[in-house]
Amino acid sequence: MFPREKACGDLVGPRGVHLLNELGVSIPGARPLGDMIVVAPNNQRVLLPALPGSNYADHAMAVTREVFDACLFDMAIAAGAHAVHKRVTGLLYEQDVVDGVQLSGGAAIRGDVVVGADGATSSVAQQAGLVDSAKALWGFALRGYLDAEVDLPHIVLWEPRPWRLFPGYGWVFPTSGNGANVGLGLAFGNDRGASRRAGEQLDDFLAHLTRQGLVPRSDVRSRTGGWLKMGVLGTVPAGRGVLLVGDAAGLINPLQGEGIAQAMASGCAAANAILAAGPRDASRHYLTYLDNAVRHHRANAPVHAGMVKHPLAVSVTSRVLSVPGIDRVVAGAWGLYWNDLATDALPSRHRRLAMASTRAISAAVRRSAAANWFATQFTPAEPTPFAAQRSLS
Ligand SMILES: Cc1cc2nc3c(=O)[nH]c(=O)nc-3n(C[C@H](O)[C@H](O)[C@H](O)COP(=O)(O)OP(=O)(O)OC[C@H]3O[C@@H](n4cnc5c(N)ncnc54)[C@H](O)[C@@H]3O)c2cc1C
Repeated sequence: MFPREKACGDLVGPRGVHLLNELGVSIPGARPLGDMIVVAPNNQRVLLPALPGSNYADHAMAVTREVFDACLFDMAIAAGAHAVHKRVTGLLYEQDVVDGVQLSGGAAIRGDVVVGADGATSSVAQQAGLVDSAKALWGFALRGYLDAEVDLPHIVLWEPRPWRLFPGYGWVFPTSGNGANVGLGLAFGNDRGASRRAGEQLDDFLAHLTRQGLVPRSDVRSRTGGWLKMGVLGTVPAGRGVLLVGDAAGLINPLQGEGIAQAMASGCAAANAILAAGPRDASRHYLTYLDNAVRHHRANAPVHAGMVKHPLAVSVTSRVLSVPGIDRVVAGAWGLYWNDLATDALPSRHRRLAMASTRAISAAVRRSAAANWFATQFTPAEPTPFAAQRSLS
């Protein structure tokens, strides 16, 4: 189902590029991007090198989201998919098992399994009773384009006032043409009312970028924004007759807020689960895949929650990590850890440090509320949905 609304996100990470290569998909005009720069709140810059891995590409890819989505859409149609340009307004049940969707205009489609790929505020997830919004890690991001020559992607940790870190980060990425994609992502836990701050502060952030010499003063075009649901927390990604993929499942990386690669990979995994195990056992098969795929989310959902609560600690830590000398030791591991690439990185001192950090953080958070949620709600056994609601808001 494709209402064809504007989607956000123009940087496809190394795992996404690898998957596209495996599927033989080439995106016209895509621009490869390797190293990345993090700008600490004191404007110290750290270069995070792109490091090779066994099952991800050695680069990311910048592509306009409209171009990217249209390319995947056309390929799906060429491969036999049938497009229906309607909104899903409800789920249909046979006893307690979902067996179809109700569409705007009154028509219905029945099927063995419904795959909910309807984004962070997924109504399929809500109606199937698979999301507990009060437990989710919510964020909101805004982005736009401007004319600027940018050589490397920059992640900018910004303090609107000294030592008052913006709870999230801003970015300047080169686009596939000769421009820049600029944006601001805000994390705020379960208080979704806090989202307005991203919009209120985007112009101040752009002025900050101009003062730093990162972009010229220029009009931002095509501003658009959207919700981020991160770290899986609060969403059980499968129920009876339903599989949730991508943002609907909360698969956005809780540290850097990206989710395109996970959306593609989980879509493939859901299809494979249906083909391999059949509709009845697809949920269990899919949850077994996710159990492994979301280890990073499991360890870092509590880290994310801690960062939102303690912005001063993030300010101090990023200043320490960016001290010249320390930055050269930690930069490789920082890039691997932050981008969830450590497990599959080729052997190096960077990987060893990133894996040691993974073990230390996993041990430190094992008694957290988030760890308890994963232990009780997220298991490869047949999932139990939260109280199912049968009407969409
Ligand atoms: C400003 C911003 C910048 C971002 N930048 C990046 C980035 O650079 N790199 C990155 O990896 N990630 C980025 N992300 C995250 C990324 O956009 C998402 O992780 C990704 O789009 C998830 O894909 P998805 O298919 O799961 O969901 P979406 O892309 O949200 O697609 C969901 C689709 O479902 C449709 N839909 C919704 N409700 C219904 C309904 N009831 N019936 C039928 N269809 C419905 C929507 O119209 C939409 O087409 C960004 C997010 C934002 C908000």
